[in-house]
Amino acid sequence: MARTVIDGAYIATVDGSSTEHATGYIVIRDARIEAVAAGRAPSDVVDGAREVIRGDGLLATPGLVNTHHHLYQWLTRGYAQDAILFDWLVSLYPAWSRIDADLVGDGALGAMAVLARSGCTTVADHHYVFPRGGGDIVGSIVDAAQTLGLRLHATRGSMDLGASDGGLPPDFAVETTAAALEASADAVHRYDDHSFDSMVRVAIAPCSPFSVTTELLRESAALARDLGVRLHTHGAETVEEEAFCRERFGMSPTDYLESVGWLDEDVWMAHCVHLSAGDIARFAASGTGVAHCPSSNARLAAGIAPVRDMLRAGVPVGLGVDGSASNESGQLGSEIRAAILAARLRDGADALAGRDALRVATMGGARVLGRQEQIGSIEPGKLADLALWRIDGVEHAGIADPVAALTLGAMPPLSRLIVQGETVVEDGDLVRVDAGEVARGVSRASRALADRL
Ligand SMILES: [Zn+2]
Repeated sequence: MARTVIDGAYIATVDGSSTEHATGYIVIRDARIEAVAAGRAPSDVVDGAREVIRGDGLLATPGLVNTHHHLYQWLTRGYAQDAILFDWLVSLYPAWSRIDADLVGDGALGAMAVLARSGCTTVADHHYVFPRGGGDIVGSIVDAAQTLGLRLHATRGSMDLGASDGGLPPDFAVETTAAALEASADAVHRYDDHSFDSMVRVAIAPCSPFSVTTELLRESAALARDLGVRLHTHGAETVEEEAFCRERFGMSPTDYLESVGWLDEDVWMAHCVHLSAGDIARFAASGTGVAHCPSSNARLAAGIAPVRDMLRAGVPVGLGVDGSASNESGQLGSEIRAAILAARLRDGADALAGRDALRVATMGGARVLGRQEQIGSIEPGKLADLALWRIDGVEHAGIADPVAALTLGAMPPLSRLIVQGETVVEDGDLVRVDAGEVARGVSRASRALADRL
């Protein structure tokens, strides 16, 4: 059996006791972590290893988990630069409704390449635009993840509430309720793998209260529970969404989503910026997860999510980049610092500690995706998804605390990204694909999409 040893790194395990080793070693056997311990690796561990990675100058953390993204938006960055959510959506729907499986594949490769190079090992994607004749879009996202070697939680999203029925999206961008449900079930049957070391899971994800019907929310919940997969949507993102729900349904977004069966431990929602204390208590009691997307919320001036209060109440919280059209950076590693800064601007210096932010980005995300037994921490028996950050360069050398180098400093260069025991990024470069090729593909696809308008 193939054994890899990481020897002499600073290790932040993010286990239940927040164990850290100033000098430690990690043993990987095939796809799993076999051991993690303090000190230098003993010679009998090193002997016969397929590879020994020198850990000096490196910080080892669990691979980061991205809990919310729209990978296809990689092709529509730089538009509607100064708009709030609803205006931004309305200006982008025409472009998005002209995508197809080939274009989405190019965009997904670009978006996931950048995620991988910023420490992300598991990607949750929320895809909700399915133009007629657009081909197998979920399939092209799965292919892109497999090409790069990343773990994927694909969600089959949907919109069925067009403008003529009082929704936000134009009628040409939506599907029928029946078509959306049928395609969601089909995506689960085709691509969902529920094994322990699954590289692809599928969830069902109607887009938002202002773009889907009540029927689709209810039926999607029933379908997901029937199929044993998770549920995802956007919730409580902006004050305009709150006004929409109060006017149309006579209640807040959280009350509305609860009324259709969407507060439960198999659900995670993006944003949750505008939650009351009572909402937070209900999220905690039900185990409903939150994908916190600080940069996107700032870009669209949506507000700052109450992360301090959610964590204190026990709400499962993970980190998300969100779609690249509202977060052109697309990096997950730098969202850790963004989360810390945003939380402190909102709630003060003790709102979010660096190590708590690292936990949100790893174990928090794993819990939100229902993968806490398999990923999110460096512990024997878990899958070997690891990020090795170089912290001895000029940006980080001398920072008193290696974890602060990652959480408060500039995002460190990535020495290695390991997924399922295999190296995916080495010295900042993608191992399985040529980054220049990916970039050229993104340029071509972005131009092709713009030309369709
Ligand atoms: Zn989103």
